[in-house]
Amino acid sequence: MNRLNNKNPERVLNRRPAISIDTPVQYLKGIGPQRARLLQRLGIKTLHDLFYYIPWRYEDRRVIKRLSELRYGQLETTTGEVISKGVVTTPKKRLKIFEIAVTDGSAVLYCKWFNQPYLEKHFRKGQRIILSGVVKPRSFAAPGFEMENPVFEPVDTESRFIHTSRIVPVYKATEGISTKQLRTLMYNIITTHKDLIEDYVPGDILKRNGLMPLRESLMEVHFPEGEADIEALNRGLSPAHRRLAFDELFLLELGLAIMKRNESVELGISFKDGDGLVRRFIEALPFELTSAQKRVIGQIMEDMESPLPMNRLVHGDVGCGKTVVALAAMLKAVGSGYQSCLMAPTEILAEQHYINIHRMVEGLGLNVVMLTSGTKDKPLEEIQRGDAHIVIGTHALIQERVRFNRLGLTIIDEQHKFGVIQRASLRRKGVNPDVLVMTATPIPRTLALTLYGDLDISVIDELPPGRRPVLTKVFFPSMKEKIYSLIEDELSKGRQAYVVYPLIEGSERLDLKTAIEGAEALRRVFPERRVGLVHGRMNASEREAVMLRFKSGEIDILVATTVIEVGVDVPNASLMLIVHAERFGLAQLHQLRGRIGRGTHESYCILLAYPPFTEEAHRRLKAMESTSDGFKIAEEDLLIRGPGEFFGTRQSGMPDLRVANIIRDVDLLEISRREAFALADADPGLRDYPLLREFLNRRWMGRLELIKS
Ligand code: ADP
Ligand code: MG
Repeated sequence: MNRLNNKNPERVLNRRPAISIDTPVQYLKGIGPQRARLLQRLGIKTLHDLFYYIPWRYEDRRVIKRLSELRYGQLETTTGEVISKGVVTTPKKRLKIFEIAVTDGSAVLYCKWFNQPYLEKHFRKGQRIILSGVVKPRSFAAPGFEMENPVFEPVDTESRFIHTSRIVPVYKATEGISTKQLRTLMYNIITTHKDLIEDYVPGDILKRNGLMPLRESLMEVHFPEGEADIEALNRGLSPAHRRLAFDELFLLELGLAIMKRNESVELGISFKDGDGLVRRFIEALPFELTSAQKRVIGQIMEDMESPLPMNRLVHGDVGCGKTVVALAAMLKAVGSGYQSCLMAPTEILAEQHYINIHRMVEGLGLNVVMLTSGTKDKPLEEIQRGDAHIVIGTHALIQERVRFNRLGLTIIDEQHKFGVIQRASLRRKGVNPDVLVMTATPIPRTLALTLYGDLDISVIDELPPGRRPVLTKVFFPSMKEKIYSLIEDELSKGRQAYVVYPLIEGSERLDLKTAIEGAEALRRVFPERRVGLVHGRMNASEREAVMLRFKSGEIDILVATTVIEVGVDVPNASLMLIVHAERFGLAQLHQLRGRIGRGTHESYCILLAYPPFTEEAHRRLKAMESTSDGFKIAEEDLLIRGPGEFFGTRQSGMPDLRVANIIRDVDLLEISRREAFALADADPGLRDYPLLREFLNRRWMGRLELIKS
């Protein structure tokens, strides 16, 4: 009985759960577990993800030309009847070429596909097909045209023309699923399920800003209709793109608006004392503060004395001396009887800060404590009892187990790596503590508004005296001899050199191996010189020991994985060789280069790049050659990477942006910010907009606990 029932197709159908936008793609028609796995690689898990898997570009295949009208070198779409087909094997290269000839009576077009003999069964003589491809002349002066690997679609299928005779979307594909298969799949799924797309943005907002309805814009973004503007589509400026970009920015701003509303507006701490401590510290420094440092410290002191909680961002280029400024603020708090903490994005950074700060406050009788995820009980107790005056740590500082006795000031270094959420969590460790964030990443104003909300901003726009621009040049592996002789030149002048190897993601062992082999190779090339090695697998004291030997001149060449990125100050080092420079990010290259050019000598940065490398890598290397200005570098970085990745929104807990581009869509950013803040004021719980609330939570991946109810 049961078995019979199971075989009843209607029964089976009825048991299927209803499809919603949260349905995993594998349950959609035409996608099984295998395809689902492939799609997952593209970040597509649910129907919703599919709807939002936006083409990365478009091809205009609208105009179908007669064969006689085809132009060489152009991407053209044409149609005709198959008159012959066959597979040829080239004698030399053993290539299997499948070829067909097509005509519409006006000319003949030959189409070739390489190593895809199975295509043969897709064609039969007499069949009508549509073809898109780049037109070439047929070789050996034979009359007719040729296309290699054209996109084709039979005219006699029932489907509408998905791949030709329209503007076609081009999706980023992955091994196992082609752009074309993806396009077919998208077309089928989207047309089948489009009714599930509900507009969640309040209608009056759409109307006020002339935005397209959501369903229409999703359909249009995937399969643009007739007279769509191909230029606008490709630049992400079509009305459909604009609507989707608005949504991303609106949900981002709405989340920020709601968080900000929930932040307390209570009074903070007014730090009255501590000036003596700050003064003693500054007087003991081996250098004079720059006027920019003095100005910014002044602004901070004013904030700290005021009863309103400080919320200040300090930005300035690598090496401008932010640590001293941060320390002055911490001492002000400590001198007023409060604890201070500083959060850095990585353990190595935290460690460097710890070492530096520990050294700098020596003689002031303060207890500086380091805290990472592995920290044991003792420091935790000191923090809780209030015996730890200054706490340096990673994001482990936010952990539940960390309790402060009297936290008065929190400082966040390299803020763009953290986000509003971490900032809020850290703030909750005290009772309205003052907050200072520091970043080496300059930012346009609109971005600052978005990322930092209502922070006051200070700029350290001056480097300590004596810094000299570093001569930077890209070299290739074939120029190794030249590189060695440049290194030798510097060493013989009594200078020192860094040789930096890249971190290979997910493979610490490989890093270590390349760095160790690199050091050995250098020892062979420079047998008279002392070559040292420092890497991330060493513990803090081992690393410090090597660094100290480099600093004191006992090591001539320091080979390092990127652990030297921060905090090392060796003015006598005048050359840096960065191996596999093409693998480094621009900001990282700039940071690394900041380690040299600190003395009075001319300094050189050699970027050793291994071709072939990507267009982006090329632009990064060019940018490094052409400027040493951190602001220009940051701008270029922003252009190359796009704002989403640049600010690491994903890891910072903010939703990432796929369609919107904060630079290009500044106007939308402003509109969405205005609308979002107005809505959050009028209806902070979004009670009247349950669907919007659902989408907001989805977008922030549940991180907005504040609006869960
Ligand atoms: P960043 O802003 O990149 O964090 P740091 O605070 O690490 O820079 O400072 C870089 C180096 O410059 C450190 O060695 C620091 O001691 C030194 N430094 C900071 N301020 C001055 C100054 N006014 N004059 C000379 N050296 C300074
Ligand atoms: Mg710093």
